Amino acid sequence: MEKIPPEIFLEICIHLCVKDLYTLTLVCKLYRKILWTKAISIQKIWTCSRILSFDPLLPYPLLPPSKSMSEQEYIWFTMLADKCSICKTKIEKQNLFGCRYWEFSRICCKKCIEEKTISVPFIKKDIPKIPKDLSGCLPYHERRVLNVGDEKLYWLDDLRSIQKKYYSFKNEQEKDNWVKEKQQEVKEFMDEIRKYKWQDEYVYFFPYAFNVNI
Ligand SMILES: [Zn+2]
Repeated sequence: MEKIPPEIFLEICIHLCVKDLYTLTLVCKLYRKILWTKAISIQKIWTCSRILSFDPLLPYPLLPPSKSMSEQEYIWFTMLADKCSICKTKIEKQNLFGCRYWEFSRICCKKCIEEKTISVPFIKKDIPKIPKDLSGCLPYHERRVLNVGDEKLYWLDDLRSIQKKYYSFKNEQEKDNWVKEKQQEVKEFMDEIRKYKWQDEYVYFFPYAFNVNI
């Protein structure tokens, strides 16, 4: 790297597809440090790489990154990650759609999602004293369960940490303000990720889907 001027290094990067660019981040600490920064110039390199890697028949992911993700995180989440973020089990490409949880910004296998999340009936049973206000303060994943209907799942660790925060306030007014802010933040986040879930569904239901990307 010392021998390659930075502008030449970046010029090379701009012509690499996502997989090659990612491989470059594994070559040495310096490359990793440069390519994982959130500097606009580096974000643009990853954007170019994402576009360069598109399948012409079904470009994915076409949307720009969500507000909560950098371009690198977005590419990782949609194009590169193929393991459960908890147990690290490899997830087959055709199953990734059902394992990508935008609400929790995680790829998760079926076993881990059962272990790491909690549904509303279980919250009522296991954490009966949880304040009602808190339900709007966390993102949730909604799934359809046979004979039950729609079920909301919350990430258990997040629920516990938000509950701890809720009880840490000494001033009621401060607590109310925090709850309102959190609820607004979650509402905006849930509204935003909806379009990314649609994007995934569109790709999933497209007949060509299983051949797309990498
Ligand atoms: Zn897992």
